Amino acid sequence: MTTTQTTDGQPTGPPLLEVRDLSVEFAAPGGGALRAVREVSFTLRRGETLAVVGESGSGKSTTALAVLGMLPGTGRIASGQVLLDGEDLVTAGPAALRAVRGGRIGMVFQDPMTALNPVLTVGRQLDEVLRAHGAGGRRARTERAAKLLDLVGVPDPRRRLADHPHQFSGGQRQRVLIAMALAGGPDLLLADEPTTALDATVQDRILTLLADVGRETGTAVVVITHNMGVVARSCERVLVMYGGSVVEDGPTARVLTRPSHPYTAGLLAAVP
Ligand code: ADP
Ligand code: MG
Repeated sequence: MTTTQTTDGQPTGPPLLEVRDLSVEFAAPGGGALRAVREVSFTLRRGETLAVVGESGSGKSTTALAVLGMLPGTGRIASGQVLLDGEDLVTAGPAALRAVRGGRIGMVFQDPMTALNPVLTVGRQLDEVLRAHGAGGRRARTERAAKLLDLVGVPDPRRRLADHPHQFSGGQRQRVLIAMALAGGPDLLLADEPTTALDATVQDRILTLLADVGRETGTAVVVITHNMGVVARSCERVLVMYGGSVVEDGPTARVLTRPSHPYTAGLLAAVP
C-alpha cells in the first residue's frame, strides 16, 4: 500500500474514509428522536492522523460507532454516507460491515481489560488475530507478534509474549491492545479515548505512539481524546465537535491559533 505525501508531509491521494452529511438519532425517552450527530462530514487519507475533540456528549463516540456500524440501543443513521474506499457502508449491508469489523478498521477502546482475554497469554491472543488474517506459519506469526509488541514500545517483547494481560501495567496493556488492533493489518485505526484511565505521562506517550504508528505503517488513525496538549503536539489535523456538529476541521496549528468557532477558543485554555 503506498502513501504519497506532499512536501509539507500531508498525505495526499484518494480518501480512505469519507463521511458525508452523517446524522444519527436515538429514540428520546419521552417519544420522538434525539439527534446526537448532525450532518457531520470529514475525509481521511491513508497515513493521516486525525484527532477528534469536543466536550462530553458532543457526539464523538456516536460518530465513531456509526462508522463501524455498531450503534448501540436505538441508535440509527438518519441520513448520510460512510464511504470506505468509495464503498458506502450505510447501504452496503451486513457482509460489508462484517468485513469492516473483521479487519479493515481496528478499534482501540478505553479499557483494555474489556478487550483482552484474561486467561490467555498476550502471545496467544496476538497469534489468534494473526492466524485469522492468514499471516503465515507459526514461526512467522511469533516473529510478527514480537515485532508488533516492539513497535508499540513494550520492552523485551519476545519474553512478554508468554505473559498474561494482568502482568502488564495499565499503560502497557493499552499498548498491547494497540498491537492487537494492528495485527489485523487495518487500513484505519479508531481509538476512542484510549487513555482516559491512565496517568498524564502515560497518556501522552500512548497518544504520541498512535500518531507515530499511523505514520510508520501507513495506517490512517482517528483518535478521540480530551487531551488537547497531545493533540497540539502530535496530531497534524483536528476535528472539533460541538452539540453533534463539526465546528472546526483543519491543521491543528491553524485551528489552535486561529479558531473559527467560539467554542474552540475555550478549548485552547486547556492546552498546557
Ligand atoms: P461523546 O462521545 O462526545 O461524549 P456521545 O457520542 O457518547 O458523545 O453522545 C452524544 C449524544 O448521544 C449524547 O446526547 C448522548 O446522550 C447520546 N447517546 C449516546 N449513546 C446513546 C444511547 N446508547 N442511547 C441514547 N442516547 C445516546
Ligand atoms: Mg465518548
